[in-house]
Amino acid sequence: MSHTNTCHPGLLVFISGPSGVGKSTVCRKLAAELPAEFAVSATTRQAKPQDAQGKKYEFVDHPTFRKLLEAGELLEYAEKFGNWYGTLKKPVEDGVKAGRTILLEIEVQGAIQVHKLFPEALGVFILPPSEKDLLKRLRDRGRDDEATIQQRFMEAKQEIHMAEATGIYDLLVVNEDHGVDKTCETIKKAIRKFRGDEQQPLF
Ligand code: 5GP
Repeated sequence: MSHTNTCHPGLLVFISGPSGVGKSTVCRKLAAELPAEFAVSATTRQAKPQDAQGKKYEFVDHPTFRKLLEAGELLEYAEKFGNWYGTLKKPVEDGVKAGRTILLEIEVQGAIQVHKLFPEALGVFILPPSEKDLLKRLRDRGRDDEATIQQRFMEAKQEIHMAEATGIYDLLVVNEDHGVDKTCETIKKAIRKFRGDEQQPLF
């Protein structure tokens, strides 16, 4: 199936969720299954081995990030865990204009900015089954020391609270243990409904 669907205007979908919720796995699966593409983000954080198969980043230094920002080349931006992240604007605008579905995997501050610019965008927030479960998942990733895990856990709880309070998310979906397939189906159904083509087997 072509990524361009001439029967529909383009669609912007922003997906957020706390660290450890399984967001990257869900987003990778969605990108593979949907006629959709991921927006590229510029970030000042260091590249990690898992970036090779995940969302697309352009790794830049702080002065370059500031230049992108000052030149108006970022659709939105935010600081997270001491690093700066921002979505490159032009490919998103071009994609939406061309009728494509563009996915943004971004945190809540950036999502608020996107919602202001594109009130018609679809917002999805991925939740853990419970706080206890989230803490377990953060530990099971084996990436961080206990102090970092506690920090991420606290920030995750704040992010969930903020997401629920902003009201910008159209869909809050719980990613159950081993529930990636179900979570993706729920998101795809929401996208179909949002595009007004529930009856059509678009994907
Ligand atoms: P990570 O460093 O683990 O890839 O991402 C850290 C956090 O930054 C995640 O919540 C991710 O969704 C968010 N993020 C990644 N790219 C962007 C971006 O371009 N803009 C914003 N606002 N958040 C982003």
